[in-house]
Amino acid sequence: MVANSALIRAREGGGGKGRSWKWREMLRFPHISQCEDLAMSIERDYYSLCVKQPIGKKLFQLFCQSRPDLQNYISLQDALDTFETKCDEERRDFGIRIIQKYLMSQMIVVCVCVCGSYLSGEPFLQYQDSMFFDRFLQWKMVERQPITKHVFRQYRLLGKGGFGEVWACQVRATGMMYACKKLEKTHVKKRRGESMALNEKQILEGLDSRFVVNLAYAYETKHALCMVLTMMNGGDLRFHIYNIGAPGLEEDRVRFYAAEVCCGLMHLHQESIVYRDLKPENILLDDNGHIRISDLGLAVRLSESRMVRGRVGTLGYMAPEVISHEHYGKTVDWWGLGCLIYEMTAGQPPFRSRGEHPSTSDMERRILTQQEEYNDKFCQEVKDLCSLLLTKEPRQRLGCWGANGKEVQSHAFFKKINFRMLEAGLVEPPFKPDPRQVYCSDVQDIEEFSTVKGVILDQKDNNFYSKFNTGSVPITWQNEIIEMGCFRELNIFGPSGSRSPDLDW
Ligand code: ADP
Ligand code: MG
Ligand code: MG
Repeated sequence: MVANSALIRAREGGGGKGRSWKWREMLRFPHISQCEDLAMSIERDYYSLCVKQPIGKKLFQLFCQSRPDLQNYISLQDALDTFETKCDEERRDFGIRIIQKYLMSQMIVVCVCVCGSYLSGEPFLQYQDSMFFDRFLQWKMVERQPITKHVFRQYRLLGKGGFGEVWACQVRATGMMYACKKLEKTHVKKRRGESMALNEKQILEGLDSRFVVNLAYAYETKHALCMVLTMMNGGDLRFHIYNIGAPGLEEDRVRFYAAEVCCGLMHLHQESIVYRDLKPENILLDDNGHIRISDLGLAVRLSESRMVRGRVGTLGYMAPEVISHEHYGKTVDWWGLGCLIYEMTAGQPPFRSRGEHPSTSDMERRILTQQEEYNDKFCQEVKDLCSLLLTKEPRQRLGCWGANGKEVQSHAFFKKINFRMLEAGLVEPPFKPDPRQVYCSDVQDIEEFSTVKGVILDQKDNNFYSKFNTGSVPITWQNEIIEMGCFRELNIFGPSGSRSPDLDW
């Protein structure tokens, strides 16, 4: 109980409350002369520096604001960003207003701007000579500070995984809450989990999706490798399906979670990643009731052949082509989505009743040959969707016809979902977790993690640790700095201490 209330209190801290009193010192800019090496080595890529990296984008905007000839571009860019957040009804009028304001007067300028090519030319060069870019380098130096366990405060244990525990933690300098997944070095070595651990970390650091947990930091301690991930306070779908009332979820929740998972899978697939471990316990809810896919330990990046082999996953959710040792690709995730939708609706998985423990071979036989059954909890649309996704032959399965999931989104079950709004995070979730509740097992009930003896760590292990131990992940870190208000408070220019061109943040 004490552990829970400390966590709840930390979660509620906003507006700078969770920050250490030394936070300014922790985020202090180095003198610009200390940024010279970085200035030499940093890749001068417009898209990475001024579009993708959130702090880079803000500083480039500030630079444009400071230049009368560029201000129009920035206000147009802002208008276009706002346009993306409008619901369908408001979009038309808003779009017309943009056209009237910008296109009528400066047709050519605007067209070039929309292509993004003008700003990446001359203005980008001038930016790199400005104090705004110097400031960007200073932020990058702060971003690249070594990460140790002292960067974080630790709260209660959240769960247990195969190689170690997951703890709630908070960045001292900003107050941001995260979940820290620890992999015990001795466990990893004993069970030869090195490539799996590195794989999970490398896949996560390359992703930036609102439907997949983000990696914020990767670091090591004497005994563990740590991945610091988006904090998901609302519990996993397994908990929500089975531990609250009668097993199963209402149709609106099934539809919403299925739609968000579908978007998450599409993001992974666009990056040529197959997830391979879709099941309720790997889908986590955040404070607002949005979901993210988590636990990418089994995810794999497809090579040119677009196929892999390997019997991995959790038996009850494995696709027929995995069970029968064939080469397979993204098809297995659409099967997984079918299992998930089935389980959310029925309150039990498709090929096993509650409390039943069939043998491995029996389970395999059912998946390969048995037709799943639909009771009256299934409306016509959800039944139709499940049976299309649970098609045994992968080439005939919904999602596998070449449109990368678009055909799943167009299914009648999702008619009520506006996928553009969903992708932009603008759809209100049908259920919001209670902020005063901790949706995980009591600390005492999470089994203690056993220690392994007789495993000696050597130089070869250190080589692997140094590949893992890469510190802050730029986009997530920069978002944290902005979201927690530190950017606004620290990004002050000039001896007078006046904040440079006021943008409405
Ligand atoms: P493993 O790969 O070893 O199975 P997981 O990534 O599934 O480890 O994490 C183990 C448990 O820790 C999960 O079942 C969940 O309870 C908790 N957990 C994992 N990631 C998060 C997160 N981002 N937020 C909150 N809890 C999490
Ligand atoms: Mg897991
Ligand atoms: Mg895992």
